[in-house]
Amino acid sequence: MRQLFAAASILLAAGFPAGIQAQDKPALSRITKGFVAIDAPIIALQHVRVIDGTGAPATENQTILIDQGNIREIGPDSSVTIPQGAKVLDLSGHSVIPGLVGMHDHMFYPSASGSGPVPGAPALYDEMGFSFPRLYLAGGVTTIRTAGSLEPYTDLALKKLIDSGQQPGPKMHITGPYLEGLGSFGPQLHELSGPEEATRLVNYWIDTGATSFKAYMHITRAELGAAIKAAHARGIKVTGHLCSVGFTEAADLGIDNLEHGVVVDQEFNPHKQLDQCPPDANDHPSIENVDIESAPVQAMIRKLVEHKVAITSTLVIFETFQQNRPPLQQRVLQALSQPSRTDYLAVRATIAEGPPPSVNLLKKEMQFEYAFAKAGGVLLSGEDPTGYGGALAGYGDQRQVELLVEAGFTPLQAIHIATQNGADFLGESDRIGTLKSGKRADLVVIKGDPSRKIEDIENVHLVFKDGIAYDPQKLITSVAGAVGFH
Ligand SMILES: [Zn+2]
Repeated sequence: MRQLFAAASILLAAGFPAGIQAQDKPALSRITKGFVAIDAPIIALQHVRVIDGTGAPATENQTILIDQGNIREIGPDSSVTIPQGAKVLDLSGHSVIPGLVGMHDHMFYPSASGSGPVPGAPALYDEMGFSFPRLYLAGGVTTIRTAGSLEPYTDLALKKLIDSGQQPGPKMHITGPYLEGLGSFGPQLHELSGPEEATRLVNYWIDTGATSFKAYMHITRAELGAAIKAAHARGIKVTGHLCSVGFTEAADLGIDNLEHGVVVDQEFNPHKQLDQCPPDANDHPSIENVDIESAPVQAMIRKLVEHKVAITSTLVIFETFQQNRPPLQQRVLQALSQPSRTDYLAVRATIAEGPPPSVNLLKKEMQFEYAFAKAGGVLLSGEDPTGYGGALAGYGDQRQVELLVEAGFTPLQAIHIATQNGADFLGESDRIGTLKSGKRADLVVIKGDPSRKIEDIENVHLVFKDGIAYDPQKLITSVAGAVGFH
């Protein structure tokens, strides 16, 4: 960590150009080159199954021609002429999908005691500036939105390190610090003093490099309205993990996106008062009675659809609160530091041994998201590596796509949500999000066929970012034991 901070500060002190574009081919550092599997001017991926991210059926026996970091051509093997000198890969048995666009992909992870949760300890999250960029890339996530930052200066510096080729990682869209009101659950979140400060803070962080904002659980309507107005005046979108403001109120204030979905929305909670996050919000006592098919919920869905408010699905984090879910994976335990592994397993065991949760929030949220999308709402996909841990960069994004399938979407629809929808929302769809000639070669080569068996999305063979192929295993090995508290 210290080395990374030092490197970042040298770059900043040297006046590193702020406007570097990810599409300019940077000179890769020796560190980043160590993770590169293939770097050639022209690369042909032969005999692949193409899942293009639009939701269209997969096409078999295709060749993808990558030229100077762009997709030049995609077509049947027989029709694509491979230029002389191209690096040709025979990828029979493999599928190619667009790089995942993770829309709730923080750079932090819960702190740990190493002996289970300490009663009364403040909620703290550690910045994973070393391990998370590598795990996102290894998991096939080529673009992230950080969706609320606890160390926004670090996130901005990491973005520069990655875009300039100094460190491996995804393309980062930096969300400013949380816009929180009075009553924050953790000391790392600043509490706004009112709408004037909300406006000041939004303008300062746009000047400093943030390209989105996230409102949080105790913000008032006045503060949220001011933040949205200031952000929109400069073409910047606002999302929210809201509690004190209902989804319907937020849509009326002009919010662009809402995180997590109906299980955090308190507008159907009988204890809800204006501008207040109800004290029983976290226990969700009322959500059990919230019927997705009922008129009030359907009216809220219609409101969001009419106002073009997207919902970010983060089923992964809700899954961790269900008993014995997700299936315990060795790759997760191997990535965690010893104290964080101990904590994760301790809480997981407590949940498994306790009574089953009174409300299955995961199932409720799945029903909501399916109904929202069916009504014409735009669903985005993100992972939210918080809670008591276990949702890890990259791995969580893959699991997220699997859970969308469990929610009722087809594998092709789920991949579409996790690729093209995110790219569209970020205003990046000219360059990324689908596999099409002319776009950047941000794509994932997967062993198997996730269009039939979505779990194959975990079998990442190569990850291309700007036409350079990275070796997922090398990235993963380099951060073994590094996730979480040290
Ligand atoms: Zn979050």
